[in-house]
Amino acid sequence: MQQSTTTTITRTQELIELEDNYGAHNYHPLPVVLSKGEGVYVWDVEGKRYYDFLSAYSAVNQGHCHPKIIGALIEQAQKLTLTSRAFYNDLLGEYERYLCNYFGFERVLPMNTGAEGVETALKLCRKWGYEVKGIEANKAEIIVCNENFHGRTISIVSMSTDADAKQNYGPFTPGFINIPYNDLAALEKALESKNVAGFLIEPMQGEAGVIVPEEGFLAKAAALCKKHNVLFIADEIQTGIARTGKLLACDHEDVKPDILILGKALAGGVYPVSAVLSSHEIMLTIKPGQHGSTYGGNPLACKVAIAALEVVKDENLTENAALMGERLRKGLRAIQSPLLKAVRGKGLLNAIDIAPHNGKDAWDVCLALRDNGLLAKPTHGDKIRFAPPLVITAAQIDDCIDIIANTLKAFE
Ligand code: PLP
Repeated sequence: MQQSTTTTITRTQELIELEDNYGAHNYHPLPVVLSKGEGVYVWDVEGKRYYDFLSAYSAVNQGHCHPKIIGALIEQAQKLTLTSRAFYNDLLGEYERYLCNYFGFERVLPMNTGAEGVETALKLCRKWGYEVKGIEANKAEIIVCNENFHGRTISIVSMSTDADAKQNYGPFTPGFINIPYNDLAALEKALESKNVAGFLIEPMQGEAGVIVPEEGFLAKAAALCKKHNVLFIADEIQTGIARTGKLLACDHEDVKPDILILGKALAGGVYPVSAVLSSHEIMLTIKPGQHGSTYGGNPLACKVAIAALEVVKDENLTENAALMGERLRKGLRAIQSPLLKAVRGKGLLNAIDIAPHNGKDAWDVCLALRDNGLLAKPTHGDKIRFAPPLVITAAQIDDCIDIIANTLKAFE
């Protein structure tokens, strides 16, 4: 008789295989399959609960499935979702005014994803460069930083220094000057070209591993841009909306960007909403028919984003991010482990560097953290970002520090 072997395939394995068999392989997720979220917690399909220490790359600042944001989504979804910009809708103007007042800008251009926000900012900057600054046709340049992450479109990867992000996607968009991050001398030199229209920067580099520039860098960089009549463009898609313990990361140095790009937490992880904010002078260089998006500024997005921003204010998430971030970094710095090389961050955008130990690296640490009930993901090999939703409490932070300390201990 033939022997039969019975293997039990878990729901987790089944679902991972399904993605593996039918999806593009453009991601390498941690093996955990999530099916529910609430506040700082997510649950997998087996019913196990975890702290979410990634917050969907800082989109879920307000916590998973925040009742006020979900309420706004449901209510608006039953009334009107999309008109396109061929017609006016009854929420866009209200949303635009709310956003401008909230962040202190004169005008906003609504888009959907972060990458679209960045593309919009690049176009806006070039247009201003030609039509206001007077740069010769097709000569505009935008200064960007090495190790940047601004998204995945062809123009955006053209600015990237990450080989994986670019491999076989050429030819690339010209017109970018790369300089090292946090390097004023390099910026000053690049600004000498009369064709420079803008300087695009993440006030803290998120994907690069939570790189915090030297104190004073942003203010000095903004001043240099002003001196050379160059637009200072802040990509605050990851750092903005309370994440770093200020409403914007630029606020740490009282810098007001000429162009501000927001995304992710603008809708609390509920709906893709991005926005580019600027002045009358810059924004009004774009005329009807010169830029747009079918979904940009739709009523559902407007309603959800207003609710998401109200939550940030109502629940003092900026202050909480500052306090809980201090508490988290203090706890992490007290951990004695040969694996823990460095701790850094601002507010609740933090990272640790892992020194490989006994053949174990950051990926193994993340797998063990998962087993112990905390989800985080390595970036650039040895770095692990710790960025929980901003609604996290002191008791939960302390619990997470214990999980991280015990996890690292087990590797010794
Ligand atoms: N800019 C920054 C700083 C980001 O962190 C990201 C995403 O991680 C993006 C742009 C791109 O946003 P999206 O993935 O929504 O296109």
